[in-house]
Order: sequence, then C-alpha cells, then structure tokens
Amino acid sequence: MMLSSLLLAAFLEASAQSAVAHPETLIAPAVTPAPASSTEAVTMPKLSYMVFRINAPAIALTFDDGPHVKNTPRLLDMLKERGIKATFFLIGKNVVEHPEIVRRIVAEGHEVANHTWDHKGLRTMSFDAITVELQKTHDAIVTACGVAPTLYRPPFGAITTKQKTLVMEKFHYPAILWEVDPRDWQSPRTVAKVHDTILKDTHAGSIILCHDIHEPTIDAMPTTLDELKAKGFQFKTITEMIKLEIDEVVATKAAVTPPPAPTPPVTPVATPTVKP
Ligand SMILES: [Zn+2]
Repeated sequence: MMLSSLLLAAFLEASAQSAVAHPETLIAPAVTPAPASSTEAVTMPKLSYMVFRINAPAIALTFDDGPHVKNTPRLLDMLKERGIKATFFLIGKNVVEHPEIVRRIVAEGHEVANHTWDHKGLRTMSFDAITVELQKTHDAIVTACGVAPTLYRPPFGAITTKQKTLVMEKFHYPAILWEVDPRDWQSPRTVAKVHDTILKDTHAGSIILCHDIHEPTIDAMPTTLDELKAKGFQFKTITEMIKLEIDEVVATKAAVTPPPAPTPPVTPVATPTVKP
C-alpha cells in the first residue's frame, strides 16, 4: 500500500515533469481582444495576459512551480539585494510543504499567485475539477501567508477561452501567460541559455517565465538581473503591471477624447407659490 502510493506519486511527478518539457506545444492562443471602448471596460483586468501594452520600461519577472526548499530562498536573497520585486506562481502542494518560504516571499514584497495544486493540464478537465485545483491552492496560500492570490497561471499555459471565462467569473483571476521563455524547463538547463534568452527577448511590458525549482535558473539570475537593470528596466509585480497598463490606457483615452461640450445654462424653474 505504502509502496504503491509512493510509486503513484513518482509516476505523477514524472508525468508532470515530462509534460513540463513541452509547454510550448500546449500554449493556448492567448491574445485577449481589446476591451470595449468605454473607460469602464479598460479599467477591468483582461481575461488573460501574455505581455503588457505599455510605454513605461517596466517588466514582470515570474517564477513558477515553487516554493523550492533550496532554490527559492537563494533567489529571494538575490532579489532582496537588488530591490527587485517578482511574482511567484506557487504549486499548492509545495505551499503546504514550505509555508515559511511563502511567508518570506510575501514579507519581502513579492506577489504570490495560483499555479494549481499539482500542476495538471487543465484543458481536458471539467470546470468542477479545475475549481478544486484552484480553490485548494488559493486556500493553502491564504493559510500560509494570509494573502489571497488574485492571479493564476495554467500549467503549460494550457487552457481554453471558455475555461478562462469560467475561472474569471468564479475566482476573478485573470490568466497570466508569458512572452519571454528562456526554456529553463528543458534540458540542457544552462546559465547561458537563461541569461542570453532573457537579455535578447525582453522589452517594455514583457512577462518573463522562469522556474525557481531549477538551480541553473537561479545561478543565471545575478548577471541577468544586473544587466536588465543596467538597460533601464524596472521590475514590477503582475498586479502592478496590470494597473500600469490600465492607467496608461485611461491616460491615452483622456488625451484623445475632446472635453464634453459646455452644458447649456439651466433655465430656473419657477418656484410654485404655495398658498398658505
Ligand atoms: Zn509550471
């Protein structure tokens, strides 16, 4: 019994790992249509994001699949030293194993987000099953650190538009995908690959996908972060980026929308005389 559950766990881990090896094949077309033209529509988060359409030189660094007992604390030291904030897409079962690391992530000003309970692909699941994956993780994060996540990333980026809509309705979570992928999930995992891809592909508004479960990814961070900073990029959490994009859209609309025509003077209505 004990052995069979261990074998099952090992099998599940192996299938999760092998699935991790090909996320690009599963990425859903994630371009969200532009919101309706009213100001109210642009002040709401979109259904999903791959990149932020902004002018400010801001970027979002994201780390998936942790917390990891060794690599996440090492990464947190590097981020702290440089005053950089990131977003961590946490696996629920790892949150339960390392709640103290989740608390440290939050205490140091980073954002915590939902990356499902055990990293299964969501596309073939019923919405009830997806709800269980997300709700268990949401609750585990709240229990660990007292902060309720407001975002999720579907494992492998795999999710249908219909599922994204249902998740938005139930959890009010936008789906956060990515644009810059250093493929640190794929062998060979090298420092050079992570560093070179991120430096080459990152631009204003980029969402960068990394995994803080892999040692070479963390090894690549000091030079990668220093060079991104030297290029003038500012690091923001995903929630800060969503707000920045909305603020820029609202400011642009205000700049192009002519002021309303002056209201004609209101003719005073004769006050009825009340007879005693
Ligand atoms: Zn993942």
